[in-house]
Amino acid sequence: MEYKHFSHNHTLTLSRIQPGQQFQCHGCNLPCHDSIFACWNCNFFLHEHCGTANRYINHPSHLLHPFVLIPSPTYCSGSFLCNGCGAPGNAFSYCCALCEVDLHVHCAYLPHKVSHNAHQHELCLSFKKTNVNNALDYCKICMKEMSSRNWSYFCDKPECDFRVHTYCATNEVKKGPCGDDGNNSTSNQNTTSAYEPQGRTEMMTQEQEMMLEVSRMHMELQMAHALSDIIAYFPR
Ligand SMILES: [Zn+2]
Ligand SMILES: [Zn+2]
Ligand SMILES: [Zn+2]
Ligand SMILES: [Zn+2]
Ligand SMILES: [Zn+2]
Ligand SMILES: [Zn+2]
Repeated sequence: MEYKHFSHNHTLTLSRIQPGQQFQCHGCNLPCHDSIFACWNCNFFLHEHCGTANRYINHPSHLLHPFVLIPSPTYCSGSFLCNGCGAPGNAFSYCCALCEVDLHVHCAYLPHKVSHNAHQHELCLSFKKTNVNNALDYCKICMKEMSSRNWSYFCDKPECDFRVHTYCATNEVKKGPCGDDGNNSTSNQNTTSAYEPQGRTEMMTQEQEMMLEVSRMHMELQMAHALSDIIAYFPR
């Protein structure tokens, strides 16, 4: 099957990975398993899930604007900080350029509920900043600090008080795009002090600032198209 992806100039073919072959997905930088979209000339590979991820999505964590799938971050640092898991990324992201909200593809498609063998009840995905009194919260799986900025999975039974990192909850479940990588490298990511968001506009040259502005305008245009698509799709 031939496939054209907006992030690559050549057509891609859907291929099955043979045992022992190792490829890295250009969309999420994680190792590929099973089926991939491949440009064999360029050694360009995408997970099937990353290659077919929607160009525009509405996400319940940010209902103000649609997210646009972009092939690489437009920030001058060349990377983004995922508002879902808190870890950096430098490949595909779902981006609301207006609000500078960025999500890994696999974070954008996290399941609403997961089961994890560390807890007897189902866990629910939460986008909310729950930490009302600013007390430090620790993940019940990895025991590391949890940032109130990032999403979490929690047990909604009040007596349980069970809350964990999204990647701690999902690195043993087989759900969602990209979540099916057995040796998911997100399992040992540290989202605490190492990835404090830095002012993205700090120390930018005028030229960089202009480039950022241009890419923002470009994305606003894309979003306007997305919106009109959505409106056309749901006539009132
Ligand atoms: Zn991928
Ligand atoms: Zn190519
Ligand atoms: Zn993420
Ligand atoms: Zn927004
Ligand atoms: Zn954790
Ligand atoms: Zn529980």
